[in-house]
Amino acid sequence: MLDFAFSRASDLPEAIAAASDPETALIAGGTELVNWLKDGIVAPARVVDINGLAELAPIHVGDTSVRIGALARMTEVAEHEFIASELPAIREALLASASPQLRNMASMGGNLSQRTRCPYFRAETDLPCNKRRPGSGCAALDGECRGMAIFGGSERCIATHPSDVAVALAALDATVHLQSADGERRVPLVDFYRLPGDNPERDTVLRRGEVITAIEVPISPLARCSRYLKLRERASYEFALVSVAVALECGEDRIREVRIALGGVAPKPWRLARAEATLRGAPLEASAVRTALDADFAEARPRRHNGFKIELAKRAVIRALQLARGAT
Ligand code: SF4
Repeated sequence: MLDFAFSRASDLPEAIAAASDPETALIAGGTELVNWLKDGIVAPARVVDINGLAELAPIHVGDTSVRIGALARMTEVAEHEFIASELPAIREALLASASPQLRNMASMGGNLSQRTRCPYFRAETDLPCNKRRPGSGCAALDGECRGMAIFGGSERCIATHPSDVAVALAALDATVHLQSADGERRVPLVDFYRLPGDNPERDTVLRRGEVITAIEVPISPLARCSRYLKLRERASYEFALVSVAVALECGEDRIREVRIALGGVAPKPWRLARAEATLRGAPLEASAVRTALDADFAEARPRRHNGFKIELAKRAVIRALQLARGAT
């Protein structure tokens, strides 16, 4: 780890000024930035602590939405009574993430800002990785790709995004609030992340000089019946091979509204918009769900080692909808 200067921001304008400097990194919980520093993924000249910005910490329950401050800790959000009852997929996704110690430290804004766990990106040795060193190649294309994307990748990068809660937030139509010297910008969470295309080094649409201030999640009957299901190699402290967040509103025997987002399969939380449209008015039966998934999965582009994710993801969606149905 290289030396850097350390200071604390006393207000949001100071944090925004720091975020405008390409040589400065902001730190909140530090559970991700310290990894980057130790692994040499970043080497900022300055690190600015934003934990003193009290206005970014609260969780506010409004009439139509919940506003989660970017500095709210994962544990606080998971244990929030209203979120647990009205937005249960968020709680489930958070509790499926990391370890209790990490959740106590990690902020929600930091969680959304995580970078891929692709082993080549995180490697201590110098391996080809366009995301880490643009133009160096992608070791995953001809290498181990069990954990890589089946949707949304490019010939430059096939990494997946690691956040669990981002998948739940995508299914719940959350919005990310961003503040810069020019004012506030609100971006739907699904549009906050970008696909790699020719520039995999950029994970999000966050601009220089912008700070994540909050995440806003609509309250609805749909959100009340939401679930998050995570499938991984071991039962805890592991990233998803496949995960799914669903939100469901059912009538007597038919689906009224549904949202489905997948994790572990794409560079961003992957909404299954065509399946959602097909399932409106359909019976909640495994065969109907499987048929509805066909159009979205026709776009899957598995690699040598990760074709299993297609069937795993389909089964996970069916199971998550059954679990959500149990909650309606
Ligand atoms: Fe790097 Fe992306 Fe290739 Fe992984 S998949 S080695 S992150 S370019």
